[in-house]
Amino acid sequence: MDTKWKLETLAIQAGYSPKSTEPRIVPIVQSTTYKYDSAEHVAKLFDLDLPDHMYTRISNPTTSAFEAKIAAMEGGVGALATSAGQAASTLSILNICRSGQHIVAASTLYGGTYSLFANTLPKMGIEVSFVDPEASLADLKRHFRPETRAIFAETIGNPGLNVLDFDKFAALAREMEVPLIIDNTFGTPYLCRPFELGAHIVIHSTTKYIDGHATSVGGVIVDGGNFDWNTGKYPEMTEPDPSYHGLRYVEKFGNLAYIIKARVQLMRDLGTTPAPMNSFLNNLGLETVALRMERHSANALELAHYLEKHPLVSWVKYPGLSSHPSYPRTQKYLPKGASGVMTFGIKGGKEAGIKFMESTKLIALVVHVGDARSCVLHPASTTHRQLTPEQQVASGVTPDLIRLSVGIEHIDDIIADVEQALQASQK
Ligand code: PLP
Repeated sequence: MDTKWKLETLAIQAGYSPKSTEPRIVPIVQSTTYKYDSAEHVAKLFDLDLPDHMYTRISNPTTSAFEAKIAAMEGGVGALATSAGQAASTLSILNICRSGQHIVAASTLYGGTYSLFANTLPKMGIEVSFVDPEASLADLKRHFRPETRAIFAETIGNPGLNVLDFDKFAALAREMEVPLIIDNTFGTPYLCRPFELGAHIVIHSTTKYIDGHATSVGGVIVDGGNFDWNTGKYPEMTEPDPSYHGLRYVEKFGNLAYIIKARVQLMRDLGTTPAPMNSFLNNLGLETVALRMERHSANALELAHYLEKHPLVSWVKYPGLSSHPSYPRTQKYLPKGASGVMTFGIKGGKEAGIKFMESTKLIALVVHVGDARSCVLHPASTTHRQLTPEQQVASGVTPDLIRLSVGIEHIDDIIADVEQALQASQK
């Protein structure tokens, strides 16, 4: 692999280089275990003196190929694939944060991540302060405590579709000496380059654009290898690990310490491992992610322009529109496109929203985004229905809000379907 290759080339070529007579395409290694000729070899594996595969809970050749490809594409030093995006978020925090410690997170997060941070991490003794990502640097700093160990935010937040102020968050991370963890699921390595913008760790729900075809739930953590763990705040990275005879991660693995620790310690103990078949599909998905994101973004922008002028539409939110408050940041941080997700307000409120969602023909009603196929959801009557109307509005879900994940079909067919469903919503 040539490290100077451009992202589109890395997407095809990185992660797997077959030798003569070996399969051209990365094989699905559907094996839990690996065979060795000597006890000494196995002993070296358990001492982490050799990088070979030991057990598929910890690593697997198909998964390694996917991990090497995404690490190369993000510009990181290594990656760890997980069974779901939720596991990637969880491990990214648990790897550096323990009971009694604290993280700061943007409040504009995917609902599942919000719930993990608001309910489950506190049960483990990790407190989370949710902050308004639009607050000033000085205000954001006020949420930090001596025991704060990370900042977590999404490239494009959900459901406001706000683009993160990377410059501000990178400055915050630098000043507070904690890593900036970015969920780049909506950004993808093609549209947004978090490590070049000051992030230290990137996570993805690969379930979305990386798989891209709605076949596999999965996640991945990518390590930028660019954070200094030697400040005394991260003893788990620098002090002996009794579960590996006193090994010190930073001393032994240098700038790979974070991602190796996540694998050999947390993945070993928690077992949120992806299936080799899913890693194969994610690897395949990465090969076309650049092409797909171009089309997703172009289709979403064209549809957003169309909806902005539509008499049955009250408002449109898409970060690629100049009317979106994040537009200057979109141009700066997502210059190749604003991804495929948008929201709009339908005239006629909740009733019209339900009718719209039930009237689309090409666009499917699916609790999902980031698929090659266009999909639609009316959150007030589905994902957010348990909330009171006041709670719904507080979480940004107004009764008229429709969420569209614009696919890569021909834009004329998408617009025609939206048009007929808008008309049907008023009957
Ligand atoms: N992050 C974002 C931005 C998401 O949209 C999702 C899922 O929708 C997740 C994380 C969680 O990923 P998964 O569903 O793969 O566990």
